[in-house]
Amino acid sequence: MALDERAFFNEKPETRTGRFTCSKCRRANDYSIRWVRRTKKDRLPPNARDEDRTKFAKLRDYLLRLDDEVVCKTCGKKFEIPSQQSMVFVDQLAGLPNDEELEKEIEAASEEPAAPSQPKPELGARFRPNSNNWK
Ligand SMILES: [Zn+2]
Repeated sequence: MALDERAFFNEKPETRTGRFTCSKCRRANDYSIRWVRRTKKDRLPPNARDEDRTKFAKLRDYLLRLDDEVVCKTCGKKFEIPSQQSMVFVDQLAGLPNDEELEKEIEAASEEPAAPSQPKPELGARFRPNSNNWK
């Protein structure tokens, strides 16, 4: 049996402040949220197999959110934290870009020569109708 992902990580609890908007009264407040930080171990456990080795190589450090809901500081009602924010890669935390910077980054990246694994979609569209000319 393959190893559980937890065999690859050291776990450490961590409290982070997050700003969330209450779904009931729409007020935004800062909340202390409990997370667990999973840091990749230096080496594989002794009982690791080849498939574990492959998996281990792809792993990145990440944070997993433990709290699912908070009590609103304004109206006192519980509300759920958006679930898409329940896991964050640690390298994404370093200088988290705002939306505008992210857009620029995506734009810049799309202007670079396409890697073989990521062909530009417009390239295929351009060649397909005239494929007879390329014989
Ligand atoms: Zn509220």
